[in-house]
Amino acid sequence: PDTPVLTLRAVTAGYADAETPALRDVTLAIPRKGHIALVGPSGAGKTTVFSLLLRFIDPTSGRLELNGVPYEHLSIDDVRSGIAYVEQETPVIPGTVRDNVLFRAPDATDEEAWEALESVRLDQKIRSLSDGLDTNVAETSLSGGERQRLAVARALVRRPNVLLLDEATAQLDATTEAAIQNLIATASREGAVVTIAHRLSTVLDADQIIVLENGQVRDAGTHRDLLSRDTLYQEFI
Ligand code: ADP
Repeated sequence: PDTPVLTLRAVTAGYADAETPALRDVTLAIPRKGHIALVGPSGAGKTTVFSLLLRFIDPTSGRLELNGVPYEHLSIDDVRSGIAYVEQETPVIPGTVRDNVLFRAPDATDEEAWEALESVRLDQKIRSLSDGLDTNVAETSLSGGERQRLAVARALVRRPNVLLLDEATAQLDATTEAAIQNLIATASREGAVVTIAHRLSTVLDADQIIVLENGQVRDAGTHRDLLSRDTLYQEFI
């Protein structure tokens, strides 16, 4: 039970066309429960941490572990089935509303889909569409906030052990903000939540904050710790 759910051990990783690695010798442990926020300037390596955790890329040295098991002993499905990912860029996947909400749990019922849609306040909108859950998302007009909430609903069905959330940099409407805050709060009570945090309220909510800079962990601690000692963090705040 004390084994972190996710671990990076001395991980160096980069991209084929880049001269320097995006992350250098990064060691991190994500506890089973609670909210960890990644902060740091653009280009610091936050997204690369997510790409490694989701196994979109592999490290050039060092290793990742899920429940203490090295990633190279696991299939991509083993890694991704326990991890829900809410991304800021393209939160909607091709297909119907049902496909979108039940993506991680294809055997879940329509009732579970409606429950998740209700908790992000999308149920009325979807009920107003003539095809309901069968509506093709590409053929209906959803606002940016509604798309984000669809992604949040997806993460709420059969709550995951691990939630990775890349917080949108764009302004979101109040309903969407509230849905995201609620997702972080509920998911971090029962499992691990890692956010790429852009909003002060998200950072303040975190149990631990990791400050990345130039591909390395610069500092880690609570908001109070970091505010008292880390100049980059003070600037960020
Ligand atoms: P952050 O999310 O903190 O803004 P990233 O992890 O996206 O940082 O980027 C870390 C470094 O890796 C940056 O120097 C960035 O330019 C580089 N990088 C990110 N994605 C790619 C890519 N697909 N190809 C080449 N270099 C990349």
